[in-house]
Parts: sequence; C-alpha cells; structure tokens
Amino acid sequence: LNRQIANQPVTIFTLMSELARKHNAINLGQGFPDTEGPQDMVQLAADALLDGRNQYAPLTGLPELRAAVADASARFQNIPVDAESEVVVTSGATEALAASFMALIEPGDEVVLIEPLYDTYLPIVRQLGGIPRLVRLEAPDWELPREALKNAFGPRTKAIVLNTPMNPTGKVFTAEELAFIADLVRQHDTYAICDEVYEHLVFGAPHLSLMALPDMRERCIRIGSAGKSFSFTGWKVGYVTAPAPLAAVVAKAHQNLVFATAPNLQRAVAFGLNKDTAYFTQLAQEMDTKRQILSAGLARVGFGVLPCQGSYFVMADITPLAKGLDDMAFSRLLTEQAGVTTIPASAFYDAQSGTPPRNLIRFAFCKREEVLIEAVARLEQWK
Ligand code: PMP
Ligand code: GLN
Repeated sequence: LNRQIANQPVTIFTLMSELARKHNAINLGQGFPDTEGPQDMVQLAADALLDGRNQYAPLTGLPELRAAVADASARFQNIPVDAESEVVVTSGATEALAASFMALIEPGDEVVLIEPLYDTYLPIVRQLGGIPRLVRLEAPDWELPREALKNAFGPRTKAIVLNTPMNPTGKVFTAEELAFIADLVRQHDTYAICDEVYEHLVFGAPHLSLMALPDMRERCIRIGSAGKSFSFTGWKVGYVTAPAPLAAVVAKAHQNLVFATAPNLQRAVAFGLNKDTAYFTQLAQEMDTKRQILSAGLARVGFGVLPCQGSYFVMADITPLAKGLDDMAFSRLLTEQAGVTTIPASAFYDAQSGTPPRNLIRFAFCKREEVLIEAVARLEQWK
C-alpha cells in the first residue's frame, strides 16, 4: 500500500455530509447548491447524449468548449488566450489542480501555500514529493502577512498556490496583494497555480486574476469550474488556461489521469460560458442575498460572523456559543442537537504542522432562502 494515500482521512465534506444524512440535518457543510443550474444547459447535455455524443472527447477538450473558455477569459479578465494551445478541459477543478501540480512539481520542490486552504492541495503536493511552505492568514481580516509570505519564497520555490475568491475564508485578494505576490513570483522565477473556481461569486470587490498582471501571463495556471459557475457540482467539468508550453504539460498529466471529460457536459458548459454577462451578475446577486440572510441570521443567534467578500462560504466564530467545545465537537453537536451541519474550519489547516484555530466553523450559503431561514430558526431554538 501507498502509506501516504492509505493514511489520509476521508474528507471532512464526506464525513459531515454523512453525519447530516444520519441526523436528518440541514446540510450547510459541503458546498453544493440545492437548486439546479440553468435548464437550457441540462437540455443541451441531455440532447447531446441522445444525439450520439457518447465517445471519447478530444484529449484537451471539445473545440467549442476551449473556444468558450478562451472567450470568457478575454471577456471577464481581459486575458486573451489561444483556444487551441492554451486551454485544457478537465474533470472538475479537482483534476485541474492535480494535473497542474503534476505538471510542475518534482521531488524537493517547495510550494508556497496559504492557510486556511482547500483540502486537496496538501496531499497532492506531498504525494509528488513537494515540500509545502505554509503561510497563515489570521481571522477575522485574513490579511496577507507580507513579511511571512516573502520569507516563504526561496531558491527552491517552484510555485505558489493562490485561491481567490478564497475557500473557506470568503476573502477576495486585492489588487495590491496580487501585485505583491506577482513581484515575488517574478523575483524568484516561479509559477502560480491560481484556483479561481469562485471567480463569478463576488459581492462588491471585483475578482482579479493574478494572470492579468504584468509578466504573469507566462507564469500562471488559471483554473475554473463549471460546478461553481453554473451550479452543477456533480458534472465535474473544469478548465485550465496557461501559456502553451505549460498547458501542454498539464495536458500530459491529464492524459494519464482521465484522458478526456464527458462530451455532452462539455457541450453544455460551452453554451453556458457563452451566456450574456447578465447571467453571471445575477448568479452573484442571488448568492449575495443568500449570504446576507445567513450572515444576519447567524449574528442574531450569537455567532461571531466574519465578513465574506466572495465564494459561497461564510465563517463564524463559535466562542460565544460553544461552551468550550472545539470546532469539531461543536459541529457534531450542532448536527445532532440543532439539526444544522457545518464544517469545522480546522480541516482547512495542515494536520502535520502547527496548531489550527479551533474556534471557527464554515457555513455554505448556496441554498434556497427558505432553507437558510429554517437553519437559522433551528439554531435559535437550540441555543
Ligand atoms: N478548489 C476550491 C477552492 C473549491 O472550493 C473546490 C470545490 N469545493 C474545488 C477546487 C474543486 O472543484 P470541482 O468540484 O470543479 O472539482
Ligand atoms: N468544494 C466543496 C467545499 O469546499 C466540497 C467538494 C468536495 O466535497 N470534494 O465544500
């Protein structure tokens, strides 16, 4: 057995979703919407199946989807890319991340990661023999600790991973922060893996891509997800944009991981990405309303609700309500006693180094308004 893989715990999302099912709790843990995405996309995907689009798609993706990804890159981020050589379609952003790490990391390479972090980054970096250099953001402001970030870069740095809008903090990195990161990437001649799956889910401050900054075009791998942009998390369609020489290596990793992604879904996602800008603005507006409903409700219950500028997650400080319980014990208790499931935020920290904060939990607000209202009512009643 491969011990590194065998010893990994089952993901916190699976663990908490199972617990939610067992206790019939409202699941505000694992991030997935409880409403369907655009029906015209579902229709297209269904039609494509009946049309006989059921054999392998091209390795790097259907030409129509690669063209749509390139068009969206130019339209939303002003980053022109070549659909032919600079786009790779993947089976979700999860696969895009794995393929990107595989494309860059050799044993002994250092990778700068920002904590709290999404749970797939560290295991894959370590699996490839990479050495994580963690830089921690602190609640409640999640400000970038510039000195610590600077010190994390060195002669063996291969890449930094930048997730903005950020899961689980809801932070959206500012232009100044991106410029600071770009300087380090340039000075140390490294790459950046930019996880931008929540690019369309921002609530005021605009989403900015590192890749749009001077000299970053040749150094960034930018990752998006149809799961997040169209509320089809089960489809697992992701996309990578990167300069041609890098995209070619990502494609080589992709060919060994899955080779190609479901063609009917690719066709529907191409159609989705070509939607009017109004679709994307409305998605963010609807999510913002949900954010406000949940944040205000949680504050009324007595949580210390942290600000959220993007993604579909809001963090809350449990100290006023937890009676000394840590985040994991408190999350279990909320599921069992209040009937509301959340994610203990310590799951977003490296289990092998440092001590994570134990006073924060993450709520997903990508749910119907009545579900959010019912969740708050249950919490009010429980407390
Ligand atoms: N990165 C981040 C930050 C995420 O939150 C998620 C989804 N939870 C992913 C990557 C994975 O996206 P996908 O479902 O497209 O694989
Ligand atoms: N990205 C989702 C979240 O952060 C979960 C994805 C998963 O369950 N793998 O909640």
